[in-house]
Amino acid sequence: MRMMRAVLLLLSMIWTLPWTALGLVIGLVGVATGGGAKRVGRVLEFHGGALTWLLTCAPIAGGACALTLGHTVLARTAGDLDRTREHELVHVAQYERWGLLFVPAYLGCSVWLWLRGKHPYWDNPFEREAYNREFLNQ
Ligand SMILES: [Zn+2]
Repeated sequence: MRMMRAVLLLLSMIWTLPWTALGLVIGLVGVATGGGAKRVGRVLEFHGGALTWLLTCAPIAGGACALTLGHTVLARTAGDLDRTREHELVHVAQYERWGLLFVPAYLGCSVWLWLRGKHPYWDNPFEREAYNREFLNQ
């Protein structure tokens, strides 16, 4: 059973690797510009430095506090990482299910919702799942 779990984890790491690699590059830019990084379970978390500016520019109202790319989470501050960890872990699990297809599926949902007059972030089923699980775990 433990071997099977390890194999599944390895496969999910490979399946999400392109997005994780992008998150690593962006996260390391954050570290090189004064930010920090740490591993929490199967996730590498980055905060601060250029990430603060980058996330402020995210195309949602007021920017984003944190953003998940594969098995990386990028955040403005260490406090944002602590506050959003449960939510972002749901997104990590979504990446593990959808792999390379996660970002196109997420953005496709946002565009579809926007075209139908709904909110591309708050009505997005990936966000709704993350907020529902976060709420259930409180
Ligand atoms: Zn989210």
